[in-house]
Amino acid sequence: MSYQVLARKWRPNSFAEVVGQEHVVKALSNALDSNKIHQAYLFSGTRGVGKTTLGRILTKCLNCEEGLQSSPCNKCQACESINEGRFIDFQEVDAASRRGVEETQQLLETVMHMPGSSRYKVYLIDEVHMLSKHSFNALLKTLEEPPPHVVFILATTEPENVPATVLSRCLQFHLKNLTPTQLSDRLKEVLSEEGIKYDDESINQISRAGRGSLRDCLTIADQAIAFCNASLTDSLISEMLGTLPYDKVYELIDCVINEKADKLVKNLREISSLSVDYQRLMDLLLETLQHMAIIQISPETVSDLNLPSEDIIPLSESLKAEEIQLLYQIGLIAKRDMDLAPNIGDGFEMALLRMMSFLPEEKETTQSKKKVVEDKAELKEETISKKSSSKPTATTKNDTEKKKNSLAFLDSKEWNKIFNSLKLGSGTKQLISHCSFLRAEDTVIYFSMPKDKLEILNGTHREKFQDCINAALDFECVIFFEEGEALESSPNKTKQKKKAKRLNKASEAIKNDPAVKNILDSLGGTIIESSITPKESQ
Ligand SMILES: [Zn+2]
Repeated sequence: MSYQVLARKWRPNSFAEVVGQEHVVKALSNALDSNKIHQAYLFSGTRGVGKTTLGRILTKCLNCEEGLQSSPCNKCQACESINEGRFIDFQEVDAASRRGVEETQQLLETVMHMPGSSRYKVYLIDEVHMLSKHSFNALLKTLEEPPPHVVFILATTEPENVPATVLSRCLQFHLKNLTPTQLSDRLKEVLSEEGIKYDDESINQISRAGRGSLRDCLTIADQAIAFCNASLTDSLISEMLGTLPYDKVYELIDCVINEKADKLVKNLREISSLSVDYQRLMDLLLETLQHMAIIQISPETVSDLNLPSEDIIPLSESLKAEEIQLLYQIGLIAKRDMDLAPNIGDGFEMALLRMMSFLPEEKETTQSKKKVVEDKAELKEETISKKSSSKPTATTKNDTEKKKNSLAFLDSKEWNKIFNSLKLGSGTKQLISHCSFLRAEDTVIYFSMPKDKLEILNGTHREKFQDCINAALDFECVIFFEEGEALESSPNKTKQKKKAKRLNKASEAIKNDPAVKNILDSLGGTIIESSITPKESQ
């Protein structure tokens, strides 16, 4: 049998196999199990995080011959043919290569035809933001009144470039980048199943190079298997990626911090004899500096970032926060300018020497060395006490999370309270104030919004709103806007009502004020109602 690339071979076939994206999987499963089908879904997120994979699983859920359910059988004819990409009622279109309005219209003409033998005709439009303006208009017409047997699944890396009118028809799910730990764990599973040998650091390197995308990780793993002859080691992976193993990067930073100029130059000579990609190496260096800064703030992130604590903690403790910032800035500028150097390796070398020369010299005196040691000891103690004190708070957080794991407490009064506390920009907040809370089901919150407002609510507004609401609720939810009249309960109307009430009160107060009465009686005249403004701070 010919070699099948890992990303394809290990593509999840069910929601249970999907790595990460728990909030999306849960919302979709709940909806399917209670027969709530939306006619348009939008999956957004960076490349290789599972948008089309989720789309395909959803298609199977909708059409599995064993019934509509969140766990398709993967055995029936429908499931199998969807897996093999030959299901007649499942159309997968890449909008990047079919942007034109004719192509879109051709596709949409088939929407009216009833499905062959399945329940739903599913259209998956990938990279939907690439559609032309006319194509979007054609799509919108169909989305406004879709035949009941049709489901659209739109996928995009750039939701901000999808027209607000189209977004307003979709249940939108934002897929997150996977964490290094999620990627490493999955890589280990796949490689073990494949019978490939690996060491931990080689896995860490691949998962970092994948930058949040499982597909990219598996593609790099494919190359690595070929390059390393089925036994992945740290040094071979570095060679393949044109970088250095992490411990080498730590060593370079250690040389800079502790002014070991001789050792630094020796290391750099060694590096120049390897075929190293200096841009990537600078990326690694910058990434490490960033990790050091983060670890200074919260030491417990070491395990989240999957970093060797014995190496990176001492490094981050030996610099002040502003010194890390300084090195980062020098590195960033060097990355931009390195290509201008007569030779990129020289540019890299000069950048490291510059970092060294810009660090304050006081480090050299024994007095300050001693101080550094003392500081380190203090920091360690603090770290330890932080760690031990962080435990109880972690459990309480867990408890509240459990409590909050449902949106049942939400009603329009609660929502208005939450709305007032949202830290949104004034434009977005003004727009969102026109939406009224309708209901919360499982993890989905439904809002109603007048059509004219809905049509200006773009992807950026939605994303900001989604982030804010997740933060405010401390809970991953999905928001959905339905078109509808502005309800009396919307934050905007509530505010207007309050304002009117205050105005009334102010006007009453003025009319009944004895001093004002006196003036009116003695001098004659009337109160100009429109000139009354209540005090804002009430
Ligand atoms: Zn099935």
